[in-house]
Amino acid sequence: MNNPSTAPIAVNSSAGSKASTSDVLIVGAGIVGLAHAAHAVANGLTVTIIERDHHAAGASVRNFGHCCITAQSGELYELAQVSRKYWLEFAAKAGFWAVESGAVVLARTEAEMAVLRELSAVREPGQVELLSPAGTRERLGTSPETAQETHDGGWPGLVGGAFLRDDLRVDPRTTVARLAEWLSQQPGVELRWNTSALGFSQSPEGVSVRTSRGELRAGQVFVCVGHDVDYLFPDLAAEHRIQRCALQMSLAAKPDRAGFAPAVLTATSMLRYPAFTDMPAAAALRAEVSETRPGLLDIGANVMFTQRPDGTIILGDSHHYHQTADPFLDEEVTSTLNAEIADRIGEPLEIIQRWQGIYASSDVAPILVREIQPGVTVVSVTSGVGMTLSFGLAHRNVSRLP
Ligand SMILES: Cc1cc2nc3c(=O)[nH]c(=O)nc-3n(C[C@H](O)[C@H](O)[C@H](O)COP(=O)(O)OP(=O)(O)OC[C@H]3O[C@@H](n4cnc5c(N)ncnc54)[C@H](O)[C@@H]3O)c2cc1C
Repeated sequence: MNNPSTAPIAVNSSAGSKASTSDVLIVGAGIVGLAHAAHAVANGLTVTIIERDHHAAGASVRNFGHCCITAQSGELYELAQVSRKYWLEFAAKAGFWAVESGAVVLARTEAEMAVLRELSAVREPGQVELLSPAGTRERLGTSPETAQETHDGGWPGLVGGAFLRDDLRVDPRTTVARLAEWLSQQPGVELRWNTSALGFSQSPEGVSVRTSRGELRAGQVFVCVGHDVDYLFPDLAAEHRIQRCALQMSLAAKPDRAGFAPAVLTATSMLRYPAFTDMPAAAALRAEVSETRPGLLDIGANVMFTQRPDGTIILGDSHHYHQTADPFLDEEVTSTLNAEIADRIGEPLEIIQRWQGIYASSDVAPILVREIQPGVTVVSVTSGVGMTLSFGLAHRNVSRLP
């Protein structure tokens, strides 16, 4: 059956025609490439986007659709807040689903609450709102009647939680397709599917890009190929120590109970995102999880979930690091994650899909932005938060163009 969320969309493609010239050429139609294209268009530049696949199928469609703004720190936090503004702006322009849902962190222990209290204390009032168990359930849309009817309101074992006000949610399965379609309808934009970048050299206009469908020219090129930097620039990938981080994910059928808008994070999320790990109480939480749930640390779990507009729930995730990702999914990893989430939600889940997602990861820096030769800039988010940062990073890069 043709899946409307992943079917190729008709775009303004002129694949096969003779070489053309644009102000900016983007390699890769994932969220990072499309965000660069969107900002370039907003600045009145002509843009060509090339994508090797027939539609985007990389990390940008395999994730939770969680713009995890609040849990960033330092430079990433600044970029995330800029990104937030443009996510909302381009959602309105391009007509894709984006909601100011916030995120809820479920806390089941005092060690978890201690991290949340510390973060709340260092942020502006209201940005990280501490919640009672009843307040947590309310933020998750559980009515007082349901709370009375079901064990612990359907969210068992809570000692409290926190509401992360600034987080957004988008639907990963439809966002990049809709954004690509909208971009292709803008004047001065050309989008070429099934066109791979093979190499770059200098030309009178700036850069000549050798592709699988001939030569293209542009003043500036952004290479936004996610985790595949090593295919084009192996030395740069080695220098930045880019690895492929493979994540196991599942989709659960829509449950009968009421839906929840916020992204939902748990203890292991507090061991991954920098705003939490920067807190002094994070060390005690790590010790607690390592004693009570060592299996979660063994699989690099970030137990979290989001509900899509159709009510299905995206469940994840584990983290395994490779140069080349192993394609074989370990069922025990998936069942550990899904059992943990079913326990948090308080009911069994009907799993209807499983998949592997891969993103670029580096222990050198969370972002790679490097002008590899005049006019050719490689951009990759190497910390697993490319949805969160995309529009902010693109805004910064495009505003620095000569
Ligand atoms: C399971 C999972 C969950 C995640 N959850 C979140 C989350 O909740 N929040 C968050 O902020 N981030 C999350 N991330 C990270 C986020 O999804 C990525 O950081 C982001 O999508 C990367 O976007 P990208 O455009 O760089 O890469 P991609 O989406 O992978 O796009 C790169 C594109 O480049 C194309 N390409 C590659 N080489 C060439 C070439 N030579 N020529 C032409 N095209 C080429 C590819 O085909 C691909 O379409 C998650 C990632 C995964 C895998």
